[in-house]
Order: sequence, then structure tokens, then C-alpha cells
Amino acid sequence: MDAAEFRKRGKEMVDYVADYLEKIDKRQVFPDVEPGYLRPLIPDCAPQDPESFEDVFKDIEKIIMPGVTHWHSPYFFAYFPAASSFPALLADILCGGIGCVGFSWAASPACTELETVVLDWLGKMINLPEEFLAGKDGQGGGVIQGSASEATLVSLLAARTKTIRRVQSEKPEVTEAEIMGRLVAYASDQVSTSQKHRPGSMGSILSILINCNRENIWMHIDAAYAGSAFICPEFRHLLNGVEFADSFNFNPHKWLLVNFDCSAMWVKKRSDLIGAFKLEPLYLQHHHQESGLVTDYRHWQIPLGRRFRSLKLWFVLRMYGVTGLQEHIRKHVRLSHQFERLVLQDERFEICAEVILGLVCFRLKGSNELNKALLKTINDAKKIHLVPCHLREKFVLRFAICSRTVECAHVQFAWQHISQLATELLETWEPNQQQQQEQEQC
Ligand SMILES: *Cc1c(COP(=O)(O)O)cnc(C)c1O
Repeated sequence: MDAAEFRKRGKEMVDYVADYLEKIDKRQVFPDVEPGYLRPLIPDCAPQDPESFEDVFKDIEKIIMPGVTHWHSPYFFAYFPAASSFPALLADILCGGIGCVGFSWAASPACTELETVVLDWLGKMINLPEEFLAGKDGQGGGVIQGSASEATLVSLLAARTKTIRRVQSEKPEVTEAEIMGRLVAYASDQVSTSQKHRPGSMGSILSILINCNRENIWMHIDAAYAGSAFICPEFRHLLNGVEFADSFNFNPHKWLLVNFDCSAMWVKKRSDLIGAFKLEPLYLQHHHQESGLVTDYRHWQIPLGRRFRSLKLWFVLRMYGVTGLQEHIRKHVRLSHQFERLVLQDERFEICAEVILGLVCFRLKGSNELNKALLKTINDAKKIHLVPCHLREKFVLRFAICSRTVECAHVQFAWQHISQLATELLETWEPNQQQQQEQEQC
């Protein structure tokens, strides 16, 4: 493909993506395929001779789309939102076009410098304490990681190195291995595979933070989902106490309209990260010293390579503005409260956790088996898509407001559908069915 064909195909692809997103509500939100569906549809080996773009393009609808779960459908209420917006998609084209690998300042100065500045913007938008910002000569600063899980791992490794060095400076006779064997990490019990369902009591988090701070314990706050909401002053109190933390991250790729992947992480002391990851073969050295002005982001992350991800954040922040993004968050929160009200009006159902942001945890009053059956009928019908979670011992349905284009009418439709399926289920449900099922399992 030469540049002339790229122009032509690029325009076709933009049209295809625009059509896909504009008419996504017409597609079934969850696919009909079974595991292994794809292998028989494509050849066993890569083609020996080149194929045409048309050949590839026509396989999108034939092979790919039948197996896509449409995360941006307004009928998708599962997991958590995956951000998407047109400015971010355009920026990703540019990122691919530049195609630099910005592991050091010199490897592409714009890639590094835009990231530092835009993460300062974002930090200011959520009113992060000054110490987390890079500024012109700050000790802190932000970095874009691929995921919140990576941010957590990076902070764990930084905390480990920092603690080992501190103990060794106090007791030089203790070996690194001895210290390593005695390190402990604590995490909240309301997390599962790194997924937080509700913000616990903030008061107790604050006291944990203050204690960590006093005891020299590294404190990392993962607000992967909730973090975006802190751009709205009415939700910022949920972040109180962050001034006691060492590192903080949230995912603009969840709720701030920046397409995956973009997990924003800040540290108070960049030297803590650099201390854990610094590696300096000759070909990566250049004549500048690391400082507030010259950042080598390879020391802030696990991989060496990194994409120019700050472009999409920059495009989104500029083209929505803070007000546009606040509107997006507030609309989602309004919709979750709309769904909550619908649930509360139906005596057969209960709300299982306080609705604060865009997530409603609800269930039929009754057994876990009953709720599992309800979820199954909902997901088998494939008109909407939900996933469950456990809150203490209870099997709970999660209704997460996800799509950028979801409106009141979609939420209304989802509730009527759920309520109708619940009626049908309860008509056939026998109270002792649960015992029968348990016996069958034995
Ligand atoms: C969604 C979520 C994660 C997982 O995010 P990744 O970026 O995919 O790793 C981690 N922590 C919390 C609190 C989340 O909500």
C-alpha cells in the first residue's frame, strides 16, 4: 500500500468506524458465537502472497464483527465503561503515524514533554496536591501507564526498593533477601481482581492513610474508575486524604473519553520510581541529566517501549474542555440514579450498595440461585449485557452506565426488560428449586 492508497483506504476506514459507532445500537450487544468460532473461518497459515485491502476489509463484517462484544453499545451495562470519543480516535491515528518509541527524552522529546505537561493539566483538573505535579522543577510528576494493574505493580516495586534501602541504611548487616522475606502488602477486602465495587467508608481510609504516612508505609491509591469523577467538585471529597499517599492512579480510559489504553499515574517523588527501575546501557544514555525538565519515562514503567499516548489525552481535554467532560460524568451519574429509582419502585428488588457514581448493584429479594437465574435469562436474551459480583455472601447484579451515547430511554428500556424477565422467572420459580439444584450438584 502506498500513500495514495492509504489516503483512499483511510477515508473508507474512517467512514466504516463512524458508521459502526453511529449505528451500534442496531447490533446485538453480545455475540452469538461459541468458543473456537473463529479458527475454522480463517486459513491455518498466513498468506504466502499479498492480499488486497478489499479482501481484508470484507472479512471485518464476516469474521470479526460476529464475535465482537459491543462495549460502546448503549445497551452495554457490564463491567465498567471503556472510554471512546472521536477526538481520541483521531489522535490514535496520529500516534500510529508518528510511530515513535518514546522511552527517553531524546527518543522523541515531544512524546515525553507532552505527557508531563498534560498529566499536570489532568492533576490540576482533579485538584491533586501540588507535590504530585511535575511543574518546571517539581519532585513529583505523572506518567501514562497501560493499565491500573501496571500502576499498582510499579508502585509495589518502588515501595519495595525504597523500603529495602531504608532498612539497609539503618541496619547495614541485614541482607536484601532477609528484608524481602519480611515485607508485607495490605489491600482493601472490597477488591477482587483489582476491581473495586464501592468506596468503603472514607473516614476509615483517611485514618489508614495517616497511619501509613506516619509509619513510613508506601500508600498507593487506585481510583481506576472513580478517579474521572473527581473533575467534578461535588465528587472531589471522595479523594480526600490523597495528600497522605505516595502514588495515585486513575484510568481516563474508563470514564474520561480517552480510548484504551491510558492509565494516569502520579508520584510525589519521581526518585522513588527511578530508583526502582533505572537501567542505563550505553545506547540509552544521552548527554542530559534526568531532572524536572528531562524525563526518561522508561524509568517510570515496566516496559522499555512506550507509545505517544498523551496525544489522545491532549486532544480530548482540549476538544471537550473541562466542562464537556464534567457534563459526561454528570450525565452518567444521573442515569445511574434514574436506574436506582426504577429498582426502588419495584418491591421485588433491592439495592445492595449506595449509588454514588455510575454503578448500581441490585438483586431480587431472594436466594443467590434466583439471582443467578435472572442474570442468565437477561444475558441469554442478549438485548442488554450485565455482569454479576459478590457483595459479602450475596450474588448481586451490577448495572454500570457505560456508553458515551447511553440515554434515559436506554436505561428505561433496560429496566422494563429486566422487570419483564423477572416476572416470567418468578412465575416458574419454585422456592425449593434451590435445594433440588444443590442435590443435583452433589
Ligand atoms: C477497572 C479497575 C481496575 C483494572 O483496570 P486496568 O486498567 O484494566 O488494570 C483496577 N482497579 C480498579 C479500582 C478498577 O476499577
